[in-house]
This record gives sequence, structure tokens and C-alpha cells, in this order.
Amino acid sequence: MLDITGGCLCGQLRYEANAEPIFSAVCHCKTCQKQSDTAFRVVIAVPRPAVSIHGSPKIYTRLGDSGQQVVNRFCPDCGSTVVIEPAALPGTTIIPAGTLNDASWLKPTMEIYCDDAQSWVQLGGAPYRGNEP
Ligand SMILES: [Zn+2]
Ligand SMILES: [Zn+2]
Repeated sequence: MLDITGGCLCGQLRYEANAEPIFSAVCHCKTCQKQSDTAFRVVIAVPRPAVSIHGSPKIYTRLGDSGQQVVNRFCPDCGSTVVIEPAALPGTTIIPAGTLNDASWLKPTMEIYCDDAQSWVQLGGAPYRGNEP
């Protein structure tokens, strides 16, 4: 069991979960790009009953690809999304890995929504060399 803790940027919202992650992934979907303000988002999934949230999150609900609701709990002050609860994954809570206090143990095991990936993104294969000398 891992003691997973984290929170939003300003610290008003915190969460903890004593759980073994169900999966971890790099998600390239458009929602993750928008919601994280960047090219992709790393997420971990944990059993929902193991998660407790401290603070007062605001809720944003949208429809996922499944046509079912996806509930996002985020900080009304700084905007960080700390947990995501997709109805399509009952009993599962998604935690954006950028909110973890300690991500040193984390190694995402898959990439999802790769068709939506930004064209320059290359993960896991040959290292990206860019314009290194
Ligand atoms: Zn905050
Ligand atoms: Zn995504």
C-alpha cells in the first residue's frame, strides 16, 4: 500500500489515499491538454473509497467519450484539478500526477489517446534529442 498524498497549487485542497494504484498512464487526450494547460497529463487511478479530500473543491462536470458524466474536483482559488471521477469507471478516482506531493515512485505504464498527441511528443522510445549539441 502506498500513502499517496497531494494537493492543489495553493495548498487549500489536499487529498490522501492509502492504496495501490490500479493503473498509471500518460494521457494525450484533448481534455487533458486543456485542463493541464500543457501537452499531456500523467494520471494514476486509485480505488475511490480509499481517497479522502480535505478543503472545499469546486465541481465541474462534463460528458466523457462514453457519454457518461465525468466529475472534476478543483480548487476555486488556484484552479488545480485534484481528482477526477468518471462514471464510466465506477469506484475509481483519477488523480493527476502533477498534484502528488511525491511522484518519485511513479512510472506510467501506458500511453492513452495517442492519436491526439501533439506531433513533437515522443515518450519511452529513443530519447528526444532536439537541438542538443
Ligand atoms: Zn488551490
Ligand atoms: Zn486525458
